[in-house]
Amino acid sequence: MAVMEDAPPTPGWEMYTGDRKTAGPFENRILYAMCRDNPAHGDAYVTAGKITAIGRIYAAAPERGAGSGRETGLLADAIAARLVNSPLDEGLQAIAISDGFSESNRAQVVAAHQLLVDEIAIATFGWSKSFDNEGWLPRTQGSFASKYLHFHRPNAFPIMDSYAKAGLVCVGLNGPFDTYELFCAGFARHVEKRVAGWTPRSIDTALVIRGRAHQDRTSTSCRACGTAFVRRQRKKKSAGNGG
Ligand SMILES: [Zn+2]
Repeated sequence: MAVMEDAPPTPGWEMYTGDRKTAGPFENRILYAMCRDNPAHGDAYVTAGKITAIGRIYAAAPERGAGSGRETGLLADAIAARLVNSPLDEGLQAIAISDGFSESNRAQVVAAHQLLVDEIAIATFGWSKSFDNEGWLPRTQGSFASKYLHFHRPNAFPIMDSYAKAGLVCVGLNGPFDTYELFCAGFARHVEKRVAGWTPRSIDTALVIRGRAHQDRTSTSCRACGTAFVRRQRKKKSAGNGG
């Protein structure tokens, strides 16, 4: 169904940088403006700052699970240096700011995300002391990559994290949502019958609320969807076993 053609225009940069309902908290407006004004990845100095700002404000910095550096340089600098020579800018330019997440650009969205995840992994591999540990692999930075790209193309890239994933489960979708491709497929199903006017951020806000409820193990069932939580069986401290 050609629903997308009838959709009202997506919010422009002026809304993401000036309208609190569209942007959410004020710091988001700063991050949107930063990416609007510095969209490219040719200058590693600029890219490293964007990585640090988004990673820290969103508590998703690629340093998580990266070990420590073999030299004093920051991981953000190592990632930024790789992105100078990557096709990330072409991937981003292929998606217009006005393009909303849809069936027609979902593959491009997923591909740009995979490209960034791969570049981060390669950069981390070269940067980290943990490289010396046999079999060590850097953590997949799918959540960070979704957030980083979201601020560059806020209408096209859904934000993925554990709350948003749990939110999809809470609204009744079957996972798993382990990869961004699977997450985006679930996200697409979630917005399928939705009336136009939503943005990835407005959906994310609602999903995070559902996801928090769905992960709240202080009660025996989810207060949003009613699913009974299966209590993980505690290992029985069997008597007489000494421990
Ligand atoms: Zn739930």
